[in-house]
Amino acid sequence: MAGQIEAGQIEAGQIEKVCVIGAGTMGAGIAAQVANAGVPVLLLDIVPKDGEDRDAVAKGAVAKMLKTDPAPFMSKAAAKLVETGNIDDHLDRVAECDWIVEAIVERLDIKQGLYARLEQLKKPGAAVSSNTSTIPLEQLVDGRTEQFRSDFLITHFFNPPRYMRLIEIVRGPHTDPAVADRVEDFVDRKLGKRVVPTKDTPGFIANRIGTYWLSVAVNAAMDQGLTVEEADQIGGRPMGIPKTGIFGLIDLVGIDLMPLLSQSLTANLPEGDPYFDTVRDQPLIDRMIAEGRTGRKSGSGFYRFDKKTRTKYAVDLDSGEYREPVKPARLPGKAERDLAALVAAPGKVGDYAWEVLGKVLAYSASLVGEIADDVVAIDDAMKLGYNWKYGPFELIDRLGPGMLAKRLADEGRDVPAILTTAGERPFYRVEDGTRQYLGLDGDYHDVVRADGVLLLEDIKLNAKPLMKNASAALWDAGDGVAVFEFTGKMNALDGEVMKLIGKAIPLVASDYKALVVYNEGDNFSAGANLGLAMFAVNIAAWSEIEKLVAGGQDAYKALKYAPFPVVSAPAGLALGGGCEILLHSDAVQAHAESYIGLVECGVGIVPGWGGCGEMIDRWRKNPRQPKGPMPAVSKVFEIVSTATVAKSAAEAKGYGFLRDSDGVTMNRDRLLADAKAKALELADGYTPPEPPEFQLPGPSGKAALMLAVEGFRKRGMATPYDAVVAEALAEVLTGGDADLTDIVTEADILALEREKFMALVRDPRTQARVEHMLETGKPLRN
Ligand code: NAD
Repeated sequence: MAGQIEAGQIEAGQIEKVCVIGAGTMGAGIAAQVANAGVPVLLLDIVPKDGEDRDAVAKGAVAKMLKTDPAPFMSKAAAKLVETGNIDDHLDRVAECDWIVEAIVERLDIKQGLYARLEQLKKPGAAVSSNTSTIPLEQLVDGRTEQFRSDFLITHFFNPPRYMRLIEIVRGPHTDPAVADRVEDFVDRKLGKRVVPTKDTPGFIANRIGTYWLSVAVNAAMDQGLTVEEADQIGGRPMGIPKTGIFGLIDLVGIDLMPLLSQSLTANLPEGDPYFDTVRDQPLIDRMIAEGRTGRKSGSGFYRFDKKTRTKYAVDLDSGEYREPVKPARLPGKAERDLAALVAAPGKVGDYAWEVLGKVLAYSASLVGEIADDVVAIDDAMKLGYNWKYGPFELIDRLGPGMLAKRLADEGRDVPAILTTAGERPFYRVEDGTRQYLGLDGDYHDVVRADGVLLLEDIKLNAKPLMKNASAALWDAGDGVAVFEFTGKMNALDGEVMKLIGKAIPLVASDYKALVVYNEGDNFSAGANLGLAMFAVNIAAWSEIEKLVAGGQDAYKALKYAPFPVVSAPAGLALGGGCEILLHSDAVQAHAESYIGLVECGVGIVPGWGGCGEMIDRWRKNPRQPKGPMPAVSKVFEIVSTATVAKSAAEAKGYGFLRDSDGVTMNRDRLLADAKAKALELADGYTPPEPPEFQLPGPSGKAALMLAVEGFRKRGMATPYDAVVAEALAEVLTGGDADLTDIVTEADILALEREKFMALVRDPRTQARVEHMLETGKPLRN
């Protein structure tokens, strides 16, 4: 993936080499993400006390990352961009680097000692930043030269650095704005992070509010006698918190981190901060840490999942022992969706919700101006750093700012100034198609996006769709580019999507230059709507199913041969039909975090929307492949029969789901702008592709593929039904009855896809696979 960031991306100039010092959890992860961006990085750590290899610490960190799941590296090529060394022999090499990231132990004296050495060695103007979680910037640069201070800032990444999109950045009073701008531009465009400007206060934004939130929520669950399941139910989804809830989240980050976060905040927060009221002895947490029950990494925390019995045991908060899971009662009435109803609910639901929300929202409101300039920064930090669906001020809007202020006042608690300023007014509103936030000054201000960011969410504030139905919509993204959006539940693909593709093509052909297929869901699309398909199976509506398959084939081919370029821009999952639409596009601009694959065989079918022919066409054109029909067919068979999913855009290139020429965008917020630029580039003098013709190996090729499957079966790596599905796939990919002298057309392969698909879907073993997938989200190995 090195050097493959392209298409409409402006180069984040002048940072061409990075040095990361400290190869622990954070430093190693940051180095990997720099390498993922195709930028060479030098990773240094201390010389180990004993042992031959003086670079062993940094080397060990890279080796460990190559085995970590989820992977810090997006590709094997990226890992090769990390060079390892030690601070005794190689520190002078910081002179080669444009940005030096310090991620060593959280000790002021050690950090200061390192900076004193760096000051002598680095290029003037090369940025130095600390990943510190708690130490004020002024203390870090104490004793340093003017030049060093002007090159210095804090860049606070979140763990794990590849996957967490937040970076909090603190500029000091002496920081040269040009230096900070350069680093911010690099972390935005190249590392894909959303920069949130933060003041130099303890815990910055996310950990300040996040630690308070967890502390309040744990205390309240214990005081009010809730079970961990109840607390996670009330304090989870209804508040827009990830489904882990509160205790589940603590398990995820590690229970042992709790006292550390608490110590650092108590040592640094100003006197009188409400956080101190939440600090108390936590005998249960101390005991769990002492017993090594530190959360998911140790296999047990507040929850313990038993693989054998497939049971998620939970800790009894009184005894500290595990007990059988107890499903909490359903939340009353509207409480699931409506925050005001949630806090007003009778009994423990309302009591707990109010205790947590009342405190956390009031605390957040009291900190505007102190930890960040505006509510947008605070909301962004909580959404990206703690995966909240709504930031605190978006939650206040959902609850009602007036209602929150009134209840706080009624209970004799302080009402934060900004709540008084707001009165009944919301923190966010849309004015003339622009989203605005309420400032400390009591006026509304536009929410400003980073330069060059284009979001469909913003386009929607200003416009109505050009056309839409239940599962898709078409938008005008400006400059002659239309955007096709999937809108169904989880962006599943169905007949409605295909119908709207058919309707959109003539309009785009007459009024637009190009089409981008894009959406802002968590996942581009995990494929066909299996629930709908299963319904059709249950009522034996075979002709409906066949229509759906044929309709999808027609829609995708119509896109491929449309008189305008089509650029697909996936992020997250692009599986099955979601992958096939990429295969039919003239180009793809993928978010680096795209997980692409043809997974049909996993549910007992074959790709049915043209994926088979498109994949063969790609692989036979691959210059790294041996010539002749068999190697391409074998390769596609190997990838598709095993339902392989690429775990990054870079990996997807290796499987041929993406072409080498397809673009990769690191920052999710920039994906649409990059895709649009790519589409416009292709629009100039565009001619649609010629339909391919194939020569395929036929029955003898199929026999060769099945020999391999038989081998897997014997070794227990494939189930009997895997072999049945694989045989159907092999027949499609080898061209059915054709032999090498025949010309097989695209239409022939589509007909084979349909035939095999329909045969498999009638098989009860396929139906069992689909049902299992719908119920558990996991494949059934029957
Ligand atoms: P860690 O303990 O995993 O790693 C620290 C590394 O620094 C170790 O490999 C150690 O050998 C090395 N080191 C110590 N002294 C050194 C020196 N003088 N020169 C070079 N290397 C040295 O720690 P971590 O969790 O990666 O934290 C690193 C920094 O990032 C800290 O400032 C921490 O506050 C901050 N941080 C941590 C997290 C997190 O979730 N772990 C998140 C954000 C920020």
